[in-house]
Amino acid sequence: MTFPLDGKVVLITGAGRGQGAAEARLCAQAGARVVVTDVREEEGRAVAAELGGQALYVRHDVTDADSWAQAVRAAVRAFGTVSALVNNAALWRTAHVEQQRPEEFEQLLRVNLLGPFLGIQAVAPLLRAAGGGSIVNISSTAGLVGIPGHAAYGSTKFGLRGLTRSAALDLAGDGIRVNSVHPGAIDTPMISAVSGQDWSHVPLGRMGRPREVAELVLFLCSDASSYVTGTEFAVDGGMTAR
Ligand code: NAD
Repeated sequence: MTFPLDGKVVLITGAGRGQGAAEARLCAQAGARVVVTDVREEEGRAVAAELGGQALYVRHDVTDADSWAQAVRAAVRAFGTVSALVNNAALWRTAHVEQQRPEEFEQLLRVNLLGPFLGIQAVAPLLRAAGGGSIVNISSTAGLVGIPGHAAYGSTKFGLRGLTRSAALDLAGDGIRVNSVHPGAIDTPMISAVSGQDWSHVPLGRMGRPREVAELVLFLCSDASSYVTGTEFAVDGGMTAR
């Protein structure tokens, strides 16, 4: 393994499917124990079962502070600590800015931005006690550039980029690194409705695979990225290079 995670405990939200599940698999392969959290019980349990004794599934709603406290308690009970947090869970809804319902805007804000904020608050004390750690916030290319139809989703993902930078500064003194990852179009259930479209406008000419995002997350969770904090990583086949 290029980036070993032996001895580390990684908590990944929304890990029942898609990129989160790929990250859980790769982190486990790299030697970590993994806390798979999701509101989707069946999928979350299946991913944890596949990884055997190295993984634990916790039903967890990222919008709820009590649910975060329970998830962290379960992680500590099972594996003793948390060394890295991947704020991956999110919802994707698109609409023209004039047509997006305010309730939907608030829902995206709660899951995609309040969720990671609560996660940082829940996990930072453990990382501090351990002498440091890593937090990876999964944003989007919609958090780097404007995209039609993405007023609500893009606002949450730009917000997550800002949260990342400010939290990185607040937590750097404790050896806690905070970075954001900005995937382009990745072939997961989230965007299955559009996965069949033509992706030739992407410089690399195709959608990304969940595993290709997971490789970057693995690097950021590992000690190989020990001098990397408060910054942004696009994994988008070159889509935002123009
Ligand atoms: P996905 O929909 O396949 O997986 C997201 C998971 O989050 C689901 O299992 C879902 O149950 C979970 N989740 C939703 N709300 C939750 C809540 N309140 N509490 C806990 N879990 C919850 O999506 P994905 O494509 O794997 O997306 C992973 C991350 O990557 C997200 O942050 C997404 O915004 C981002 N992203 C995805 C793409 C893409 O093209 N797929 C592009 C850019 C960014």
